Amino acid sequence: MPVKYSCCREGEWLEDYNNWYELAQLYFCAKCQSIKCWRCTQPVIKVKFCSRCRKITTGNNCPERCFNCPQCNGALKISSTTEKDGKSFNFNCQCGWNFNTGTIHQPQPLRRIIRNLNKTTPYYQLKAFYEGKGSLPEQIEYGDLSCGTNKLPSLARVRSKSDIFCRVCKSWLTIHRADVSSTAKSNSVAQDYVPEVYLDRSQDSFVLRFINNSKHLMDVEITYPPNAEYHFPRTKFKLGAAREETIGKTRGSTTEVKTHPFNTDQTEQRENISLTSPEGALNHAIIPIETQLQEFSIPIHVQVSGELSFGFSCMNIPEL
Ligand SMILES: [Zn+2]
Ligand SMILES: [Zn+2]
Ligand SMILES: [Zn+2]
Ligand SMILES: [Zn+2]
Repeated sequence: MPVKYSCCREGEWLEDYNNWYELAQLYFCAKCQSIKCWRCTQPVIKVKFCSRCRKITTGNNCPERCFNCPQCNGALKISSTTEKDGKSFNFNCQCGWNFNTGTIHQPQPLRRIIRNLNKTTPYYQLKAFYEGKGSLPEQIEYGDLSCGTNKLPSLARVRSKSDIFCRVCKSWLTIHRADVSSTAKSNSVAQDYVPEVYLDRSQDSFVLRFINNSKHLMDVEITYPPNAEYHFPRTKFKLGAAREETIGKTRGSTTEVKTHPFNTDQTEQRENISLTSPEGALNHAIIPIETQLQEFSIPIHVQVSGELSFGFSCMNIPEL
């Protein structure tokens, strides 16, 4: 099981599991040489665009004509029919919902047509009444309970891409290209710097498994509370750099990394490990844990030194 990482909160804050993060939720600031959570970073919206047609906008809805179903939020198909004194528009959803605008006499953008129709709904009229800008609609005076239920097509919402900077040193951690369709960006995520840590159980033994996805060799040292009911016979080890072709690939497929099945003879197993993985040659390491406990939380502090030097605390969070 992957452990969670803490950032910028200490003491009693750590008892709240919300202050522990998955590695994938964190950034890494190379200038500060530390993990950064959302509290330590600041997003700045770079570009907003319609989630469907990807047209760029500064508003909150599609600037063109992408409408969603008010019932299921699915994309609506739009068709038009020419009539003798104008045009009418039909909105159809695959859920079965449909809507017709009635005859529109003057050419105008669909978004304006829908906005004007919106003003005739009981909901809008009620709102206008309470804001002192209109009179009570008839349906409401007669106590029609359907008030507010005659829905109209809604414009597709926008999505945004944000650049992110470190609040402490103001370095950019994520930079998007202004181009909407491009996913290329520079991104300083913790996964590229900070080792992945797993607490694994095999039969009656526990091990911590470390995987280094960075380009740097690391000297690692684990520290833990002195009165803990668990013990690490080995607290200092090296993690080799991830090989160029494996960078980013171990991520998400870590189950492929074999853990040695620990059995009763741990000494022999430990020798096996040191034989199969000379220190620093591999980008992963398996660290045995000695304990009588069957279930426990391991808060540990990990200090990394080498090209980059930083520390972090991590812990397995019990499933709630
Ligand atoms: Zn933080
Ligand atoms: Zn759109
Ligand atoms: Zn629908
Ligand atoms: Zn920084």
